[in-house]
Amino acid sequence: MENNKINLLIVDDEVHFLESISKSLEARDFKVIAVDRGEKALEAARKNPIDVALVDLKMPGINGEETLKALKAEHKWMEVVILTGHGTIDSAVECTKSGAFSFLQKPCNLDDLLEALKDAYKKKVMNRKKIEEKKMDELLKISISGSPREILSRLREIDKAD
Ligand SMILES: [Mg+2]
Repeated sequence: MENNKINLLIVDDEVHFLESISKSLEARDFKVIAVDRGEKALEAARKNPIDVALVDLKMPGINGEETLKALKAEHKWMEVVILTGHGTIDSAVECTKSGAFSFLQKPCNLDDLLEALKDAYKKKVMNRKKIEEKKMDELLKISISGSPREILSRLREIDKAD
């Protein structure tokens, strides 16, 4: 069910990486919108609901940090995870000061990526629903020892409930 999927925006100018990561995440219950430029990411986020964005730092056109700032300015609840290549860790750390939830170094394995996306989505749900961390962990109790996928699915239920 589409409704049970987490809406993910991925922007990266390395098209092969973009395609493979999108496929992996679509197979794990994410609804993925994949674009190769910051400008396209901003456009896509205006047209589609996005829970979490995964943003490459180094891109032609508007870079990852500018994309991050624009996304955060326009979408109050969206959380952004920065993807960074070799040698750009300092810039990635800067991005967390500009509102990024966290950053991951490329190439990243799928487990680390899922973990980062789970935490970012948890933050989004906590902020949007004004749930404190302690209360959220209580709500997640049954699944907190579960896999990131189980937790993501539980978070989705909490996000969707009124
Ligand atoms: Mg790049």
